[in-house]
Amino acid sequence: MKRFDPIESLANARHEFGEHGGVNMSIEASTTFTFLDAEVMPEVFRGLHGPEGGCYLYGRHYNPTISVLGRQIAALEGAEAGYCTASGMSAIAGAVLQCCSSGDHIVSSRAVYGGTFALLHDYLPLKAGIDVTFVEATDLGEVQGAIGPKTRVLFVETLSNPTLRVADIEGLARLAKAHGITFIVDNTFSPLVISPIQLGADVVVHSLTKFMGGASDIIAGSVCGTTEFVGSLMDLHTGSLMLLGPTMDPRAAHAISLRLPHLGIRMKEHGRRAQYFAEHLEALGLPVIYPGLPAHPDHNLLQKSGNSEYGAGGVFCVDLGTRERADDLMEHLQNDSRFGWMAVSLGYFDTLMSCPSASTSSEMPEEEQARAGIRPGLVRISIGYTGSLEQRWEQMETALRTVGALVTQS
Ligand SMILES: *Cc1c(COP(=O)(O)O)cnc(C)c1O
Repeated sequence: MKRFDPIESLANARHEFGEHGGVNMSIEASTTFTFLDAEVMPEVFRGLHGPEGGCYLYGRHYNPTISVLGRQIAALEGAEAGYCTASGMSAIAGAVLQCCSSGDHIVSSRAVYGGTFALLHDYLPLKAGIDVTFVEATDLGEVQGAIGPKTRVLFVETLSNPTLRVADIEGLARLAKAHGITFIVDNTFSPLVISPIQLGADVVVHSLTKFMGGASDIIAGSVCGTTEFVGSLMDLHTGSLMLLGPTMDPRAAHAISLRLPHLGIRMKEHGRRAQYFAEHLEALGLPVIYPGLPAHPDHNLLQKSGNSEYGAGGVFCVDLGTRERADDLMEHLQNDSRFGWMAVSLGYFDTLMSCPSASTSSEMPEEEQARAGIRPGLVRISIGYTGSLEQRWEQMETALRTVGALVTQS
């Protein structure tokens, strides 16, 4: 059987035209929808008709433009269905809460996005009485040992943030299935690079704010899974997206939809440049974390389970040894050469740099950071594709020399 290709799947799913025959879809900005027949309205409230029959009700429930984007992202992931939200965090919170009630338990990877860590470590136990155990997700035995009778969700990131460990989605999916729990994967770091649903995950969430949006101008999220699961998020009585209301703006859905056709080209170029930087930094003797390097502990796993034509992702980390040198490097790269910008986030066309221990992972206590392998001098680089690769590498080498990171070189 031919291997799943996300871009081919998206091409097959894109069949919308604009209202007047435009080559891209119209924006349905309306917050409410008319009914031709008064009898149909109560039937929609009883769930007898829905958007698949063209029955739209109110913009916090389904919206046609957001439905199209949801369908396109589902196609990219090879999922049955998908819907979009106002942020990645609301996609994660919505998906997790849909699976759990007060008293239930979640097993989560320790190496997750700082906001997700705070949601699971602080917010859900405090506000919802949901208990969470953090595990080293690369250790299937530890994951299995943490699953108990109250466990409802197993949560991991495909490429962990910022240590870029690759989750063994197939192995974790088998564990989740054996225990009858929902396996939720955050695929924000690796759209197209890994297709978790194809490997057995139940639900895939994204922060569309990153690579999918690609221009660092829109905060947005998505949830993909079975038609039943995505439908449950919009249930009028128990749907976490319907009732908590993190509704995406249809204009944002339209804008992101127009960027998905070139996501494949962008991911390939992010990946090509990340691979070049990782190899060249490694050759200079610096500790580099990038799953595209043979020395990375999960290199073979990614080769085996990823869609290798889309590369190994656009993010790598380099360890400058100390926080001071990490800060010096980032300041030089931004203020002296305009190589990139000191900012959190990733997936932008320009390069973004941050020091995870002092920023995106600072919600984690120091000992948790150490356990997750987040060293103080680690710089996370989301490599952009502006400028030429030669020009960018020269800027990097100059910066490294200036901050004294190459002193051991003759
Ligand atoms: C940014 C990010 C999120 C949160 O997304 P928002 O769109 O900022 O709410 C979640 N997970 C990962 C891996 C992220 O990088």
